[in-house]
Amino acid sequence: MSVTELAELIRRRQPCVVLTGAGVSTESGIPDFRSRTGLWAQFDPREYATIEAFRADPHKVWSFYKPRIAVLTEAEPNPAHLALAELERRGLVHAIVTQNIDLLHERAGSREVVEVHGSIRTASCPGCGERYPLERVVELLETADAPSCPACGRVLKPDVVFFGELLPVEAIDRATELARAAALLLVVGSALEVYPVAGLPLETLAAGGMLAIVNQGPTPFDAEAALRIDGAAGEVLPEVVAAL
Ligand SMILES: [Zn+2]
Repeated sequence: MSVTELAELIRRRQPCVVLTGAGVSTESGIPDFRSRTGLWAQFDPREYATIEAFRADPHKVWSFYKPRIAVLTEAEPNPAHLALAELERRGLVHAIVTQNIDLLHERAGSREVVEVHGSIRTASCPGCGERYPLERVVELLETADAPSCPACGRVLKPDVVFFGELLPVEAIDRATELARAAALLLVVGSALEVYPVAGLPLETLAAGGMLAIVNQGPTPFDAEAALRIDGAAGEVLPEVVAAL
C-alpha cells in the first residue's frame, strides 16, 4: 500500500530529489557507520576518520582505509541504486544528493549525483597538491600499506570528507539549492543524523516541498514526513519502480 502511495507521490510531486545515506549501500555489502554492526562500533572515528588523526598518523588512518577501499571497489550496485537510476532515466528523479563515497550511484547509471561527503574517485597529495585517480591509488596500495605520492613521497589523502573538514562548498551549495527546489525530497537509507546534510529536509519543507522517507529505523524527521516506509531500500525501491 505505502509503496503505491510513494509511487503516486513521485509521479505527482516533481521535481523529486533523492537524498541517500549508508543504508542504500549496505545491501551491496558495505557496512554503515552508526548501527550496532557499523564501522564506528569497531573503529573509533576520532582515531581513523578525523583530519587531525590523518595529519598525526596517516599510516594508521590508511590501516583503516586500505581494506575499506578494497571492499568499496569490489562492491556492486544493488537493486536500490539500479531503481534510482531507472527513475532518473524515466524523468522522475531530478538528482541524487548522496552522503556515500562509494561511487555506486554513478556505476548504477545515475547521472545527476551530488557527493556531499566527497568520494574515493580521487586521492590528493597534502604536500604537492597532485590528485590521483582511484585506479592509481589501488595500484600504489598493491605494494604499500599507504599510498605515497609518486611525485613527492607524502602519504595521499582520499578525497572524502573527514570529520573536522568542511564539506565541499560547491556540492553543499548545489545540494541546498536542489533541496529548496524539490517538490518531493525522498530520503533513502539515511537516519538524518549528520549535519549539515541532515538539514536538507528543513530546506525542502521551508520552501513548501514534501518529505518522504524510506529507512530502516526512525529518523528525527518522521513526524514531518508525508510518507514513511520502514524497509530495506533494495526491496522497496524496485517495487516503487514496478508500481510506476
Ligand atoms: Zn605530492
